[in-house]
Amino acid sequence: MRGYRWVFAALVVGSALLPGLVVSAQQSRPDHEITKLADAVYLYRHHAHQALFLTTPQGVIVTDPISVEAATWLKAELKTLTDQPVRYVIYSHHHNDHITGGRVFAEQARFVSHAAARDRILQAADPNTPVPDLTFTDRMSIELGGTRVELIYTGKNHSDNSLVVLLPQHKLLFAVDFIPVETLAYRALPDAYPDEWIESLKRVEQLDFETLVPGHGKIGTKAHVGLFREYMEDLRAAVREQLQKGATVEEAKQRVRLPKYQQWQRYAEWLPENVEGLYRYLSESRQ
Ligand SMILES: [Zn+2]
Repeated sequence: MRGYRWVFAALVVGSALLPGLVVSAQQSRPDHEITKLADAVYLYRHHAHQALFLTTPQGVIVTDPISVEAATWLKAELKTLTDQPVRYVIYSHHHNDHITGGRVFAEQARFVSHAAARDRILQAADPNTPVPDLTFTDRMSIELGGTRVELIYTGKNHSDNSLVVLLPQHKLLFAVDFIPVETLAYRALPDAYPDEWIESLKRVEQLDFETLVPGHGKIGTKAHVGLFREYMEDLRAAVREQLQKGATVEEAKQRVRLPKYQQWQRYAEWLPENVEGLYRYLSESRQ
């Protein structure tokens, strides 16, 4: 086990504490890290991926296991926190860079996902990724040891099966890959549904929470959902304008600039790819 450390922080929304926490975590940047976000609510990070877990008197609820290595490490760390087993593993969506490794918990856990994720996980047939035995299409609650977790489907976005995990008692939302915090969307938007994505973000904006925990990168607040929706709307409008002018995809990639977002992570690298993804999507949806 390589070096990691605990970082404790009270979950104080809107204060300088959370950004400070992220900065301090990045200075040493261990491979694995557990951060206590609130009473019995933890963030665990493995390299660039992260997810939540919750401890209760009747068992642990884990979201994305990330990988066999990450899940094996997490299982060992959980033993230092609780004598309870993992009872639920919740998959945020079907992408294997987030959900591989659940077999580590398979003896005592149930696996939960959106119904459409289950189909894709069945097809992939990866023995490290147990097939979900609990699925839903719109909304589902899990109650365990006095803790309630709401799983909500807000429509297609980065995938067709992304759920959000809402912790009502903590006003905290976990959402993976479709609401990056001050970061551009991933590359050329593989698997994505850009129009529905924007609508899905509007539905997230209707939910009652204060803290946004993404699957990569820094923790945000609810305001970051609106900022990212505006980014997607601005990107779509800029690419649509290029299409209307008859620009080729290469021309659009060179011309579209969104300086409002130039301070965001991955702006220089991923903006041309985001443009390309949108361009292909809008070209196809016109026919
Ligand atoms: Zn993904």
